[in-house]
Amino acid sequence: MIKKLLYTAIVITTLFIGCKKDGSPGPQFAKDDAAFSAYENSFLEALWKQNPDWATTEGYHKYDSLLMIPNDKSRDNQVSFARVQLDSLSRFEVGTLNDANKIDYHLMQNQMDQIQFSLQQLKQYQWDPSSYNVTGTFAYILNEHYAPLAKRLRNFYEKMSNIPAYYKEAEKQLKNPVTELTDLAVEQHLGGLSIFEKDFADSIKKANLPAADQKQMLDRAKQSADVIRGYTEWLKALKNDHPRSFRLGKELYNAKFKYDIQSELTAQQIFNAASERKKYIHREMAKISKKLWPKYFGAKPMPADSLDLIAQLIDTISSKHVKPDEFQSAIANLIPKLTSFVNSKSLVTMDPSKPLVVRKEPGYMAGVAGASMSSPGPYDKDGNSYFNVGSLAGWSAEKAESYLREYNQYTLQILCIHEAIPGHYVQLVYANKAPSLIKSILGNGAMIEGWAVYSEEMMLDNGYGNDEPEMRLMWYKWNLRSVCNTILDYSVHAENMAKQDALKLLTHEAFQQQAEAEGKWKRVSVTSVQLDSYYTGYKEITDLRDAYKKKMADKYRLKDFNEKFLSYGSAPVKYIKEAMLAKGGVAGSSSSSSSGQ
Ligand code: ZN
Ligand code: ZN
Repeated sequence: MIKKLLYTAIVITTLFIGCKKDGSPGPQFAKDDAAFSAYENSFLEALWKQNPDWATTEGYHKYDSLLMIPNDKSRDNQVSFARVQLDSLSRFEVGTLNDANKIDYHLMQNQMDQIQFSLQQLKQYQWDPSSYNVTGTFAYILNEHYAPLAKRLRNFYEKMSNIPAYYKEAEKQLKNPVTELTDLAVEQHLGGLSIFEKDFADSIKKANLPAADQKQMLDRAKQSADVIRGYTEWLKALKNDHPRSFRLGKELYNAKFKYDIQSELTAQQIFNAASERKKYIHREMAKISKKLWPKYFGAKPMPADSLDLIAQLIDTISSKHVKPDEFQSAIANLIPKLTSFVNSKSLVTMDPSKPLVVRKEPGYMAGVAGASMSSPGPYDKDGNSYFNVGSLAGWSAEKAESYLREYNQYTLQILCIHEAIPGHYVQLVYANKAPSLIKSILGNGAMIEGWAVYSEEMMLDNGYGNDEPEMRLMWYKWNLRSVCNTILDYSVHAENMAKQDALKLLTHEAFQQQAEAEGKWKRVSVTSVQLDSYYTGYKEITDLRDAYKKKMADKYRLKDFNEKFLSYGSAPVKYIKEAMLAKGGVAGSSSSSSSGQ
């Protein structure tokens, strides 16, 4: 998980980015890269004007004081914005642009198609009460120190002025909303209230504002909190005899998959591949478990059922874990170890001028995750990358034990590979070298998550963890989570899978604890498609590496592949593939722009 993406996800749901098809070539006014770059700038400027909340959380602060009211007029504006931009794009001949601009072109086109799809077909604004939520951006303005506090408070204050109209409009638009999303909206809004009821007041005290201003600001914050509480009460009291199902249905699912994931494969094809992958992993896990059995269980007879056999080994091995008070230092110690392994095996060049800063999880993130990355935004590419590590202090012994079994000696290392080295952090350092803002802003989640998953396996394949079978077994469990996320998401939203079957899949076939499985069920009933990104990206990157290896034959080097792949930024894998496998492209050259020295 990456925190930046978390904010983006919140904002995107409030925006209803939506769709339309076909980039029919219009009259050609410009075909060169310089003209295209100039167009990109005006595109972004217009995009931010349309989407002030999104702009704020990406680090563009011109519109911080604005809150758009989600009414028919603003949706019409979004749709015509998309139409105008698609028309502008059609004036460029995409084939004449360089690789980087070609990918930008596709990303912009996809985004505009997605806007139209969301607003005209998906219509989440009619059935998803959680898609209306102002709290994320307000929290961002308060917590991120990008400008002097007094200035941020002033913008916060002005932005609050539209909160009553915003929620009035939400109540007008919602018709027979999804029950699960109604509950989620209540929960999230009640959780966000403290921003208006407490955090804002605490910040005002620190800012030394004139007393009269302070009073005005606090009055408006109170009014805002009342409106937000009123929205939750309205939702709870809503008479809703025929709620829409939380399941998207096959048609909408396939379309959403196409715009959100941007894979060259369909949702059905990815589901089929994941189902095959699950069988493969089970076979491999059974082989390892049979070998390990005597080491842990001596002469005790092996269970006949291979899934039971695997489950018993996982359960036993999970007891190897650090003590609760060692959790943070264990992670801090792993980072240099991972770095030196990557260097000694020459897997990818690490840029020593962009060190990863390991820090204790900031207070406002507390309790969210054991470890996560905070990455600099597109407008602050030189900012620090932080690896936030949560403390287990204050956790009950039972809760800490369950958590530490999940992040045991083996999976804790996999977690650090995924989040940091050579996973998300390394990918981001490379992505930030690409000059394009478009790829940072419209970055592809499947590529980003896929890289992190791919990097875990790459480390193990190159001998990380001394080829210990325990490590491989635990990685397979971890990889099964991605695979089963995909199977689950597709089965639930496009195939009507029942809850009890879903829980059985996760506990019995993916070896998850009941609590984790229940949590996943909750997630799949309030999100769709996002859970596909991990496995889809992993599969596409692995397939691309295999194809590239074949193409390069004896000139193939893993490091060249990794650096070349990362040099395109956070782009959909299918477009990177197009560039990397192009005839006459890349042969033998480990591009100097990507080596990061
Ligand atoms: Zn991740
Ligand atoms: Zn224990």
